[in-house]
Amino acid sequence: MDFHNYPSSGWFEGYNTKKKAIQYALPGVWGFMAVTGIDSGASDSRQRRDVGSGNSYAPWQALLDAVGLVLFVLGVSWMLVGAMKSQNSFPLWAIPLLVVSALLAADLISGIVHFLADNFGNPETPVFGRLFIFPFREHHVDPLAITRHSFLEINGASCLVSLPLVGLALWATDTEQNALLRLWLFCFLLAVLATNQIHKWAHMARPPFIVRLLQRARLILPPQVHAIHHTPPHDCNYCITTGWLNYPVAKMRIVRARIAGLRGRSPKPHVMGAQRF
Ligand SMILES: [Zn+2]
Ligand SMILES: [Zn+2]
Repeated sequence: MDFHNYPSSGWFEGYNTKKKAIQYALPGVWGFMAVTGIDSGASDSRQRRDVGSGNSYAPWQALLDAVGLVLFVLGVSWMLVGAMKSQNSFPLWAIPLLVVSALLAADLISGIVHFLADNFGNPETPVFGRLFIFPFREHHVDPLAITRHSFLEINGASCLVSLPLVGLALWATDTEQNALLRLWLFCFLLAVLATNQIHKWAHMARPPFIVRLLQRARLILPPQVHAIHHTPPHDCNYCITTGWLNYPVAKMRIVRARIAGLRGRSPKPHVMGAQRF
């Protein structure tokens, strides 16, 4: 967005909320993630009983995830600080609009990726099988495994997957001309990062207090909404960021039925390792 096209429109004139928002957002976001995320499941006795039931997290994976996490944090922080340097400001109402639209976008993507991973291919599918299909289907077999994973294991993969977008956003957007777009991308990337953590919280018996409040307010995925997906045949409520877009994403079953029809097959109940149709 070219702010210089609107110098006298009054659209942003008279406001200087951006810098204040950024000053509080950056430490606030990382502080929230640290307080609520780091090993927040370790004190849950229900999860501890399951330790050792096959959760293997290789050191090379941990190292890769740590590098991804550091690069992601540096990238999005740079994005935010860059926007702070802009001489433009925006109205206060733009902030909730940015946050809500970013959450909607992340929820939609989480639902589509989850739907595709649950319904197409199998864990042996090249590249995507190991990266996406296996984790989603294993999660149906052992839903509590996610609660035994560390903060790094939960969030490292999200950071690695998001890095190309972080790089693209920094390369393609300009601090001055695209300040609002950069802020939206910052919110979107944080929502994408938070998705796995939010999914973990939806499975925890005792998530942190502030998380329970957010779940009750339906600002993040509530456990009871996600529990429906874990009821056979695992064919609805695919969205795992907020769950707001579960209904439209479930309509993708129409697309699946079409494809199944073209293949001359009918959808089968979900089975770990098998294609649905
Ligand atoms: Zn699933
Ligand atoms: Zn789940």
